Formats: sequence, C-alpha cells, structure tokens
Amino acid sequence: MSQMFCFQCQQTAGGSGCVQVGVCGKQPDTAALQDGLVCSLIRLATAAVQQEAYSDAITGLLEDGLFTTLTNVNFDNEAIRQFTLRVDEAIGTLGAPEGPAVRLWQGETDTVSLRSTLLFGLKGMAAYAHQAAALGFRDKEVDRWLYKGLKAVGEAHTVEEWLSLILAFGRANLKCMELLDRANTESFGVPHPVKVPADIKKGPFIVVSGHDLRDLYLLLRQTEGKGVNVYTHG
Ligand code: SF4
Repeated sequence: MSQMFCFQCQQTAGGSGCVQVGVCGKQPDTAALQDGLVCSLIRLATAAVQQEAYSDAITGLLEDGLFTTLTNVNFDNEAIRQFTLRVDEAIGTLGAPEGPAVRLWQGETDTVSLRSTLLFGLKGMAAYAHQAAALGFRDKEVDRWLYKGLKAVGEAHTVEEWLSLILAFGRANLKCMELLDRANTESFGVPHPVKVPADIKKGPFIVVSGHDLRDLYLLLRQTEGKGVNVYTHG
C-alpha cells in the first residue's frame, strides 16, 4: 500500500499521482491530515444541509477548510489538526451522528475521477470565494454550493448523476469567478497593460506567487518605504 495518494495538481508524479511523497514536497502525514479534514468537511456540510443550518460560521469553515487543503496552500500539520478540531466541534454542535469516513480515492476508476473533479473544483471555488469575501463580496448561490457539493462528494452517484452535478457546479464556479472579478475591479480598478521594471534590485525582497490582490496590496503597504522589494509574476 502506498504511503499517500494525491493527484490534485498538474505537477503530480508521472502524470498519475504522488504516492511516496509529493513532487511539491508534501509529506504523507500532511496528505493524510488534509484528507481527514476533507472528510470532516463532508460530514459538516451533510449535517448542515440535512438540518438547513446555513450560517456564516459554517460557510466560513467549509470555505477556509477546502482552501486549506488546496494543492500546496498549507503544509502546517498542527494548523490542519486544529482546523479539523474546529470542524469536528461544529459537527458536534449540530448533533450529527458518527459516520464512516469517505473513501476519497477508492472505487471504480471513473467514479474516483468524477468524485475528484467535483472535489477539486470545490477547492478552487473556495479559494476564489475566500478572496472575494476578504474584499466584502459574497454570493448566496456560490456559498450554497460549498454545502451541496461537499455533501454530494460523500454520496454515491451514477455516472450520469455525477456529470449533471459537475455541470451544475461549473455554472456556480463561473459565477464565483465573476464575483471575484467584480470584487477585484471594484476594489482596485480595471486591469490594463503597464510597463514594469523587470530587473532585480539589491537588498531584501519577497517573491509573491498566486493572485490574491488584497494580500498583495497589504504586503505593498507593509513594505512601503522599508527598502524591501516585492516581486510577482501576476
Ligand atoms: S499537490 Fe503536491 S502531492 Fe499533490 S499532486 Fe500536486 S505535487 Fe503531488
């Protein structure tokens, strides 16, 4: 039996899956903790849908929990453990019964692929929704799909049902991208091409990847006048 299984990004080993250690450096214990967190999120979403318990607190847990498990966002085992405890506490508050852990990567190949397509899509949407929310923009349909999608990931479906779910989710995901676009353009203006220096300056620097414009804005404010250069591709 392999030490881990992760195939959620294009760097995945051999184009099929990281099974010893992640190409990105993710360790097996981190991968297991991330999977455990996803299973807790599925239980929380399922209990919340069954009880129609949609709250900002639960939405925040689902959104940030999914974002935490995205590709190489967070490899801090203790932080993942603590987040999982918070999710389990929320499950306890809803009085949801214990259930078997969802076997995320087991089953018939097509089923695993379809389940993963929905799960990875939800992780991506959670990241965008998180960035939009940080700028004060939310969308009810996007939020509800965090519940609906996670619950669906934990259930059995026919291929046709999976495809229908994924297509419907794709429309919500597009809505989330529009939401983030609106959040970014209304907060920072409409992007347009400008000339930027591409040389490397002497002195301390920070390299930023990703596209969280609010984080980048805060970092630029914090480093302003301090002689620390910020480089980014975005
Ligand atoms: S996130 Fe890391 S461990 Fe997972 S597939 Fe990508 S490279 Fe491999």
